[in-house]
Amino acid sequence: MSEETIFTRIVDGEIPSYTVYEDETTYAFLDANPLAPGHTLVIPKRPYERLADLPADVAADLGATVSQLATAVEDAVDAPASLVALHDGEEAGQEVPHVHWHIVPRFPGDGAAAVHAMFDGVDLDEDEMLNVAEDIRDAQS
Ligand code: 5GP
Repeated sequence: MSEETIFTRIVDGEIPSYTVYEDETTYAFLDANPLAPGHTLVIPKRPYERLADLPADVAADLGATVSQLATAVEDAVDAPASLVALHDGEEAGQEVPHVHWHIVPRFPGDGAAAVHAMFDGVDLDEDEMLNVAEDIRDAQS
């Protein structure tokens, strides 16, 4: 884990931000380049880079904060829905190496698509589905 990221500098108050929530382990603030009004980033205060780096207690805290804030953000901007997303790794689009959930309010007719539109999709036969499911189960032990 690196000691400092642009987001730890926000948590420490060295870089100003529009803070919307803070507790002992998690922090949330408005994205500087909002995709919609209320676009919020939710982070652990410590600079864990990947989801897999989070200790279980911090992961639980972060999940609770995201869950609570998704509703608050929607209420605040009167959005009927939101996209809650995380780029986990550079190849997935992660630019800041400090875990951050995006909460992006969605509005009817906002022109954005669902996450499925990002992919062409793949055809997997039954054996391939069985094998990948087994590999995922094995990878957890
Ligand atoms: P990523 O692509 O890593 O998932 O998203 C990084 C996000 O962090 C981007 O949406 C970007 O606008 C936001 N961001 C980067 N630097 C800053 C900053 O200094 N302040 C704030 N509030 N947001 C930032």
